[in-house]
This record gives sequence, C-alpha cells and structure tokens, in this order.
Amino acid sequence: MAQAFIDLYSDTKSLPTDGMRKAMMTAVVGDEQKDEDPTVLKLCERVADLLGKEAAVFMPSGTMCNEAAVAVHCRPGDELICDRTAHILNSETGAPAAISGVTIYPIDTRYGIFDRVALRKAIRPDSRYIQPSRLVVVEQTSNFGGGRVWPIETIDEVVDEARQAGLKLHMDGARLLNAQIASGISAKRYAEKFDSAWIDLSKGLGAPVGGVLAGERDFVKSAWRVKQRLGGAMRQAGFLAAAGLYALDNHVDRIAEDHEHAKMLAIGLSKIEGIRVNPDDIETNIVFFDVAGTGMKGVDFVARLKAQGVGMGAFGETTIRAIPFIGHSRDDIQRAIDTIAQLVQANIRSNSKVA
Ligand SMILES: *Cc1c(COP(=O)(O)O)cnc(C)c1O
Repeated sequence: MAQAFIDLYSDTKSLPTDGMRKAMMTAVVGDEQKDEDPTVLKLCERVADLLGKEAAVFMPSGTMCNEAAVAVHCRPGDELICDRTAHILNSETGAPAAISGVTIYPIDTRYGIFDRVALRKAIRPDSRYIQPSRLVVVEQTSNFGGGRVWPIETIDEVVDEARQAGLKLHMDGARLLNAQIASGISAKRYAEKFDSAWIDLSKGLGAPVGGVLAGERDFVKSAWRVKQRLGGAMRQAGFLAAAGLYALDNHVDRIAEDHEHAKMLAIGLSKIEGIRVNPDDIETNIVFFDVAGTGMKGVDFVARLKAQGVGMGAFGETTIRAIPFIGHSRDDIQRAIDTIAQLVQANIRSNSKVA
C-alpha cells in the first residue's frame, strides 16, 4: 500500500483538525467590518491580551499585518530597519516600497538576530540628504535565521537603542508562540515594549487563514483603515476567527512536539554522510540543512525527495528547509530521515557507476 505523503515544506501546510473544523462549523458570526462578528471580536480581545496590548485587528494574512503596521508607523520617504533575511524584505513583493513608499535598511546577521551595536550602525544620521530611520522590525522567531529565538536581553537592548533614537518598533510574530514554547518566556513579555506585534494563525497553530495584529487603540484604528483600503476587510469572518480561537485553546502547548520533531530530524540528518546540519542550531520548528556534500543541487534533491513521498523546500543552491507541524508523528519524521538516507546512498551509487 502506498504510504501517505509527508509534507515538511512549511507549517503553512498544516490542516485544520476535526475539533477545529467543528468549532468553525458552529461559530456565531456577523459582519466583521461593522464590528458585528462576535467571534472575530473575541479573537481580537484574546490576542490583544496575549500580547499585552489595548486592541487588535484580525487580518487575512500575516503579510497584511506587517504591511498595515508599516503603513501606520511610517510616512513615504521613511526607512525601516530589519534583518537581511526578514520576510518583510524578501517575501512581501516589495510592499513597504509599493504601498507605503518606505525604503529598507537590511542588517547582515548570522541567525537573523541583530544587536544594539548593529542597530546603532544602521540608524541614519540626521541629514537633509538621507531618508530618516523610522521603524525597527524584529522577526520572532527568525524564519530564515533557522527558527532562532531572539533572546529577551537582545530584544530589550534593541528596544532601548531604538527608543533613544526615537524609532518605532514592530514585531513580526508569525512564530512568536514558538519562541514562547521554546524559551518559557511569554509572548506578552517579548512583545510588551513594541508599538505593534502580531501572531499568525495559519502556521504552527494550524488554522486555515489569518493573522492578528495588536497595538494601542489608536494604532489599531489606523491599521483598520489600511485593512479596509487594501481590501482586507471581511464579512462573516468569524468562521475563520473560530479556528484561531480553537488553536489558542488547544494547539499552543503542543507546539513543543514540533520542536522535538525538528530536533529529531536534525539529529537524524546529521548522521547522513554528505548532509551538513548542526542539531544544536535547532531551537524551534525550523530545520535548515546543506546537501552540497551529496553532489545534488537543492532543487534536484527536493524533486527526487518528493517522488519518494517527502516534501521539503529548496532555498539557495544547496540549502534545504524542513518544518514539522501538527499531524506529524515520530514515525513520519523517521521515515523522512530514512528516505533521505536512501536517496543520498542511491545518488552516490549512480555517480560511482558513471565514473
Ligand atoms: C509566513 C510569514 C509571514 C507572512 O504570513 P502570511 O500569513 O503567510 O502572510 C510573515 N513573516 C514571517 C516571519 C513568516 O514566516
């Protein structure tokens, strides 16, 4: 019998559980853009509280959370500062420039985490020739930094430096709850000094759609206007919000399982000749590894792996990313490791035949 496909491409591929589907089916709904959807209102209150903010707004995506925040905090001609690998710079189709007229100053780091000194160097001097720095974006956890958790001391330092320079602060918390589970430090503590912060419902939490952006009441009022302008205002969105509420009730603590699976995967892969990964680098649910030593290119590796029933992503020439999520078992992870070991072996054999 054919075995089920194991998709480790991203936690965005997580599917609603039966309990979540039931919660969605039975949600009480209304017109959310008239503030008449009780389930959306409940979700917003819940996330505002979770992040220690006055209010929150439900968005169709994390991308819109980021871009609404940029639009509210900045004016055209301003600059935002973020890590070189940040989602807001690399995966949002240039929206800070296209929507808000904002330039980006990227900081080069090892794991997507910059410190006070690096931030200080990135802040523009006050000059009529130079666009003013306005906003600092922190991505907790850092996706392309390999799921690294910003240490709270580093966050406090960066916040302090930004405040001294009069800058605003925004937290891209797509995986903030992963940081909470990994470190034991609350999402509220991580986000408390930021002007805005959001969490994604459709990643590790396993909901189908949406992100929730929180901040002070005035900020959220302005973010609502941007949401309306971008066509992000919805109607009976409570069906989606119900999935988010269900996830916050039932899927937060279980994120620890994803972290265990990521560690297990990294340890297994580290024993395969030709694959390079340091299991100590894995802090949450994201595993990056390098396949240069196998003689395969990343896209080739991923295509052949897919044919064997395992999905992963190729980023860069020989870099592969895997992200376990809800629904994966230890057996699935073991099968992914075994499949890769066989694939690498088969590749070595066929290469030696050619030679
Ligand atoms: C996925 C992601 C986003 C965007 O979220 P969507 O809901 O997919 O729009 C933003 N930032 C980071 C770090 C992400 O991983």
